[in-house]
Amino acid sequence: MGDRFQTIVDLDAGPADAEALAHRVVEWLVAEGVVLADRTNCVLGQPLGHPPGPSWERAVTDDWDHEPWDGLAVHTGRTGFTSGADMPGAAVCPHCRSVTALDDDVWPRFSTAMQTWRETGNASLPCPTCAGTVPVPEWGWDECPLAFGHLGFEFWNWPDLTEDFRTRLAALLGGHRTAYVSGAF
Ligand SMILES: [Zn+2]
Repeated sequence: MGDRFQTIVDLDAGPADAEALAHRVVEWLVAEGVVLADRTNCVLGQPLGHPPGPSWERAVTDDWDHEPWDGLAVHTGRTGFTSGADMPGAAVCPHCRSVTALDDDVWPRFSTAMQTWRETGNASLPCPTCAGTVPVPEWGWDECPLAFGHLGFEFWNWPDLTEDFRTRLAALLGGHRTAYVSGAF
């Protein structure tokens, strides 16, 4: 069994407010006892994360079948959040809802645009159907969703987070839109 993650991504936070929002959310999580304040080597992909706190059960569904094995990684900074090793099979235009298969012909353009977004924070692709210009973060994805943002809360090897917990966490983000991305490596 691989390592599983669940990430709540703030889609509207920018470089200027990501740190402050991260601080606010972590403070709340620590006060709730969901995670501990002192970071340890308990996450993948980052040196340090917050280990589960004494009340981690508050964040997860009742029928959990294991305790959290690892902790919470907080990402601040421009990040393309993925659902794991696999990439989506198609992109969905937010304007006309048409579905563009990410086949070998199309994928390189999307891949390059994603890379440009990670480097500059600004990249768009034209929709092949309606010719509208769509910024990379605005595209939808058919499977293995992606989320592009500057703030993400990534729980490693936790049971399923409840809808209620995700809603309460999102409420601390000042009305920002959020995405929930989960997967495994
Ligand atoms: Zn379109």
